[in-house]
Amino acid sequence: MLEGDTVSVPEMISLEDARALVLSKVDALETEDVSVLEMIGRVAAEDLASDIDISPFAHAAMDGFAMRAEQLVAASPDTPVKLDVVAEVPAGSWYEGSIDEGQCVRIMTGAPLPAAADAVVKYEIVEVLSGDGRKGSRVAFSAPVEAGAQVRQAGEEAKADEVIVHAGEVVHSAGVGFLAGCGVTQCKTYRRPTVGIIATGSELVDPTETPVKGQIRNSNSYALAASAVDAGAVPTVLPIAADDFEGLRAAVVAATADYDFVVTSGGAANGDYDFIKQVVDDAGELLMTTVNMRPGKAQTFGIVNGTPVFGLPGNPAAAYLGFEMIIRPALRKMQGYSHFERPHVRARLMGDVKKKDPRRIFNRATLSKDEDGNYLVTPAKNQSSGLFGPIQKANCFVILPEGPHEYHTGDILDCVMLDIPEEVLL
Ligand code: AMP
Ligand code: MG
Repeated sequence: MLEGDTVSVPEMISLEDARALVLSKVDALETEDVSVLEMIGRVAAEDLASDIDISPFAHAAMDGFAMRAEQLVAASPDTPVKLDVVAEVPAGSWYEGSIDEGQCVRIMTGAPLPAAADAVVKYEIVEVLSGDGRKGSRVAFSAPVEAGAQVRQAGEEAKADEVIVHAGEVVHSAGVGFLAGCGVTQCKTYRRPTVGIIATGSELVDPTETPVKGQIRNSNSYALAASAVDAGAVPTVLPIAADDFEGLRAAVVAATADYDFVVTSGGAANGDYDFIKQVVDDAGELLMTTVNMRPGKAQTFGIVNGTPVFGLPGNPAAAYLGFEMIIRPALRKMQGYSHFERPHVRARLMGDVKKKDPRRIFNRATLSKDEDGNYLVTPAKNQSSGLFGPIQKANCFVILPEGPHEYHTGDILDCVMLDIPEEVLL
């Protein structure tokens, strides 16, 4: 196709359809084996089972004295039961001797419960009549105890061969410990997608440079690379492409050979120097050009050489929102995640907003709480799509649904929280 030719443009679609379209074009990548510590925040690609019972043996949950509950049936403050301490069982040891009538053993937290005992009474509520409370002492109990008290039973948390983390589950820090305790030190997870990021615009210079007349720094590539890292992907910031059809085409096609997902920013609208739609249409299959949202109506998506290529708009807030709402879900699906929506909360609007644009608007805003714990949302003063600053200061987007409307202080609006993983607050 020649520069300047018109492309067959699919009509504007909803954000939901855009997300569904992009999700339909990606799958979980192949799996890789990683150490359990590297599983933090990642998705298990197979069921993970314990190799032993957890805990492996019944043990004391507190420092105290072990005996059979039946020995203390008659214990009361007026008629304490007095026992001789015949052994000490520290953690890591094992007591196989007997506990006869009139006897108990001193036991430490984590030490195996002797087979001759069925309960533990914590040290703090036992009176030491003679000695130092250790072996050779005599101690008094002023209350009965239930069998099983202060005992963590064998296999209480998991049985040998029982699945403890299921395929598809996201592993959190406690899960890393759980797996380690169950002997799972290597896990299968999905490979992180690589993302090639190309900023297009003849006005752009690298952030290390000081822009001269007409130039601006390429901030998008950095925000998008950071967003990619945040989504679990591995980004590469590729050289800036000028506003030139052939140059951009060559850069995009080369990137599709090297990366799992290619993201461009800029040149996505209908200006004389906007070429990403033509590039995708010419080099591959153009599937989407426009999404019913603001900022960021111009969102191009297609497949080139079997690789998803997403052309974000150039305006920073528009590029950020497109990545956040449409690309991030795809990068997460490639890593096996199954939740794609950040947590939403409903909040009381602080201020008046006149909405003229019929598109669904995502305004940069800050969520806080009133004294009763109700959410309040304050939109940022400057909603220019050209700015990253208000997003850095914001913690949500407040959503103004499709259609013109006037909103007032006190109206309840839906807000999508930023920087909180999708699995939280489903
Ligand atoms: P475009 O989508 O190419 O028309 O660009 C829209 C606006 O975003 C223009 O003001 C561009 O200068 C600006 N812009 C485009 N690309 C970038 C970028 N990589 N970093 C920062 N601003 C950009
Ligand atoms: Mg441009």
